[in-house]
Amino acid sequence: MSLSSLPIFRFAPSPNGLLHLGHAYSALYTERWAKAMGGVMLLRIEDIDTVRCRPEFVAAVFEDLKWLGLSWPEPVRIQSQHFDDYRAAADQLRAKGLIYPCFCSRAEIRATSGGRTDPDGAPLYPGTCRHLSADERMENLRAGRPVQWRLDMNQVIEKTKEISIFEAMPSPTDKPVCRPADPGRWGDVVIVRKDTPTSYHLSVVIDDAIQGVTHVTRGMDLYAATDIHVLLQALLKLESPIYTHHTLIVGEDAEKLSKSRGSESLAGLRALGITPEDIRAQLGF
Ligand code: GLU
Repeated sequence: MSLSSLPIFRFAPSPNGLLHLGHAYSALYTERWAKAMGGVMLLRIEDIDTVRCRPEFVAAVFEDLKWLGLSWPEPVRIQSQHFDDYRAAADQLRAKGLIYPCFCSRAEIRATSGGRTDPDGAPLYPGTCRHLSADERMENLRAGRPVQWRLDMNQVIEKTKEISIFEAMPSPTDKPVCRPADPGRWGDVVIVRKDTPTSYHLSVVIDDAIQGVTHVTRGMDLYAATDIHVLLQALLKLESPIYTHHTLIVGEDAEKLSKSRGSESLAGLRALGITPEDIRAQLGF
């Protein structure tokens, strides 16, 4: 059977720290459903942030996942090797006038958002640079001011009208249901960052399409982001996968585990003598 007729899942960590139990849960969850549906699980390294992502963390991803007993087809897609793919997609959106340059700093956005926030809790961009004239844009670009490119959300929503998410919940074997997406609550989301020629949203959508991913399984923390992903798929005329968002593993304080909060890493647990079987049993696999 060719790969293209199989259900294709993926686990796509960002190597900006060591993997913790939350990652193990997501990877094991993805493996479980890929196997149950006779499909494959791809591994993708999401390292577009070339400052925070480090080679030693990439090596640790491979080591930790192999230790857990996971396997995946080679070659692994490493996002930092594919910036040209994301540039080409951004060029398409730019050529259609759907993204515009924004020169605002974080402090300026905080000061002008009027306290409104996006679904991630970040200050909502009030659209300041959407109103710049062509001359003002050129002037700023020529002056070499750091630029990010934002989606002109109102225009885009007007163009795409109703768009939907195909969601299989609580597991990928459930019958997918179609629910309307609500990307407008994100405002003019960043599509090309200042520090790297893409963004999480753009690269994840391009890669899922290039890799033929049919099933996206990831944590509930990315539930609202899916609204942006299906919107980008509609704009770039890409197939939309079926989405399943799983519950998150939380720490003793009921907070989501995270690298930045110093949650216990898999490498740390391994050093304490914990086995992969212990981890699987603790996480219910
Ligand atoms: N790279 C993202 C993360 O580590 C996951 C992206 C995704 O599954 O869509 O949170």
